[in-house]
Amino acid sequence: MAQTVAQPTATSPVLPAALPLKAIAPWAAFFGILMLVLLYFVGAEQGATAVVSGEGVHEWVHDARHLLGFPCH
Ligand SMILES: [Zn+2]
Repeated sequence: MAQTVAQPTATSPVLPAALPLKAIAPWAAFFGILMLVLLYFVGAEQGATAVVSGEGVHEWVHDARHLLGFPCH
C-alpha cells in the first residue's frame, strides 16, 4: 500500500481582496440612516416628539423601547 504525503509549500496563504471604501460608503450611509430612523421610532416617537399622530407606532415598538431602556410611561 503506497501512501503519499503532501509536502508543505512555502507559499503565503491566500487573502481575500480588500473591499474598496468607495464600494462600502453608500451602503454604510444607507444603513446608518436606517438605524437612526429606527432608533428615533423606538426611542423618541411619543408625545411632543411624535411625527405620526396617534399611538400606533408607539405600540408597535413599545417592547423594544422597554428592552433598550428608553423612558416610556
Ligand atoms: Zn412603556
